[in-house]
Amino acid sequence: MAHYGFIGSGLMGLPMATNLLKAGHQLTVWNRSKEKCAPLLEAGATFVDTPLEVVIAAEVTFSMLADPQAALAVCFSPSGVIQAVAPGKAYVEMSTIDPETSSKIGISIQARGALFLEAPVSGSVPQAEAGELVIMCAGDHELYVALEEALNILGKKHLYLGEVGAAASMKLGVNQLMGSMMASFCEVLTLLEEAGLDAQDFLDIIGAGALAAPMFTAKGKKILARDRTPQFPLKHQQKDLRLALQLGDVHRVPMPVAAAANELFKRAYQYGLEDDDVSALFVSLHPAGRKPIM
Ligand code: NAP
Repeated sequence: MAHYGFIGSGLMGLPMATNLLKAGHQLTVWNRSKEKCAPLLEAGATFVDTPLEVVIAAEVTFSMLADPQAALAVCFSPSGVIQAVAPGKAYVEMSTIDPETSSKIGISIQARGALFLEAPVSGSVPQAEAGELVIMCAGDHELYVALEEALNILGKKHLYLGEVGAAASMKLGVNQLMGSMMASFCEVLTLLEEAGLDAQDFLDIIGAGALAAPMFTAKGKKILARDRTPQFPLKHQQKDLRLALQLGDVHRVPMPVAAAANELFKRAYQYGLEDDDVSALFVSLHPAGRKPIM
């Protein structure tokens, strides 16, 4: 039995931490809003008051946080992770963040003699619950090897991609594709509904051919049911497109498709959809979802 720490009990962090507990590991947790840790505490986890105390308690601390700002705050605040990392400790950053932020965190952890792995994931809440995430890893290889069992608890597949920054960049590529696909998917569904066609027929047709994809099945079902309950919050998809576009700037790669998708997701904020599921983009495109201006 290992003693793990888990920081961040949001939509993804909660089921991931739950799976570590269920596998019999000791767990110390912290979340900015303590109440979200309640199910973990009922299942036997210990809550501490700061990220620093998580690292003191645990051998390996995982974090699953909203964005680069959250990841930096948890690491570098006066009661942050960096204050407690030392030889014998390890930190695993699983949030979707940009490679620059991940490197800043990784370098600071490693400079204090601890091990660091960035390990963003592909898959949403159902896959987190089922322990079927795909985990992209980069950083200290000895930590990647040592975490084999934990990675198998959290995911169905994990890969080692090299130096810190590689996994963060790969994850942004995955979500650049997802954001572009979601934007196009919502646009097509709107067009077909407006043209008087049955959206379910469209889902059946693409589901039976080369365009079949679990994402279209899952998100199509939510859109048709007008179910905006968040699994992957729209604001995180927009954040990922923004970070992917920043990476495009760094490498001077033109990304007009991702840029167009990003604009659509930004506009969805104007409809108050940011905390809804990513598939709620449909609402901002569909005439019925648009609020009258006058
Ligand atoms: P979420 O439900 O919005 O949870 C975000 C977490 O970050 C919460 O624990 C939140 O704390 C914490 N947080 C936000 N700002 C903070 C700050 N300034 N200081 C400390 N903690 C802060 O998001 P999620 O869906 O679990 O996603 C977490 C990460 O995984 C994101 O990077 C996301 O892009 C990525 N991801 C999500 C999915 C998905 O399908 N949901 C899939 C793959 C990857 P509070 O509870 O106090 O707000």
